[in-house]
Amino acid sequence: MTQELQQLLTETKKQLEHLRILGVEGIRGVTVNAPVRKRGLPPPLTEPAQATPPDLSSSLFGDLMPAPVALTPSTETFEQIHCEIGDCTRCPLHQERTHVVHTEGNRKARLMFVGEAPGADEDAQARPFVGRAGQLLTKIIEALGLKREEVLIGNVNRCRPPGNRAPTTEEASMCKPFLLREIAVVQPEVIVVLGNTAMKNLLDTREGITRLRGRFQDYKGIKVMPTFHPAYLLRDPSKKRETWEDLKKVRDYLDSHKQ
Ligand code: URA
Repeated sequence: MTQELQQLLTETKKQLEHLRILGVEGIRGVTVNAPVRKRGLPPPLTEPAQATPPDLSSSLFGDLMPAPVALTPSTETFEQIHCEIGDCTRCPLHQERTHVVHTEGNRKARLMFVGEAPGADEDAQARPFVGRAGQLLTKIIEALGLKREEVLIGNVNRCRPPGNRAPTTEEASMCKPFLLREIAVVQPEVIVVLGNTAMKNLLDTREGITRLRGRFQDYKGIKVMPTFHPAYLLRDPSKKRETWEDLKKVRDYLDSHKQ
């Protein structure tokens, strides 16, 4: 096999693994050489045959409910994951970053916090949540009776978006698999997603934070608590009360599930 072919194969395997981590389990109804349908164009004259309707006779919802996906525990190390990320140029965010900001904290943590992406302070110091919002997050962690070093803190994206804008869907989808791999290594009992971007990316939902906050969700068997982002709390301190209510649920869950 030529070197070029070997390289192509390696890259394809990496892409497939990337998609698997994002939850893609197969491509249904696609045949090799099937015509690609572009958005906005009229449907092709010959539509593919309709899929056979599910047989609902055996159970009322059985065929319609997606099977719950369990987390596949991983034996990777953070060092291996960070080494693979390297001096990343996978998405345009690399162009203006100073540092790649990796997840930090206790790699045996029961509790993890996930934010959106680094800001200016994080980009300068190569550490997540060290600016004003980060200082508030540290206070929140301490109010839960924990030290910052006892929990795990990360972001969906590891490079600072210019002007602190939210990462685009494409940017997030390039970076998120690395976060998901870290989650599979640590297997925290609870993940607190801070704000809309983190919540939408981890839970794959279109719901907004105002609707879902304060109610435990699920990520592959891990409890996920959506709550407001600390940067939002700095802008609107009246939301601190609701945030505290959400976090008390997390504290109560962890207290009642101590080994
Ligand atoms: N906001 C985030 O979402 N993440 C950080 O690391 C800092 C601020």
